[in-house]
Amino acid sequence: MTAPTGEVYRVDWLPGTDLLHGTCHCGAEHTAEDPVAMWEWMLAHPEGHRPRGTAV
Ligand SMILES: [Zn+2]
Repeated sequence: MTAPTGEVYRVDWLPGTDLLHGTCHCGAEHTAEDPVAMWEWMLAHPEGHRPRGTAV
């Protein structure tokens, strides 16, 4: 079996707001009002991504 997708993104809309909350496959999270901006953030991976639990 081979999975066609090597990357998993998840985008949720935050009820009561105009914000989208996205989670990258690396665990980084991001919020944006513009879906296009959200996708640009995801596609820019790993730039600007800071996965939780990663010590700097
Ligand atoms: Zn990422």
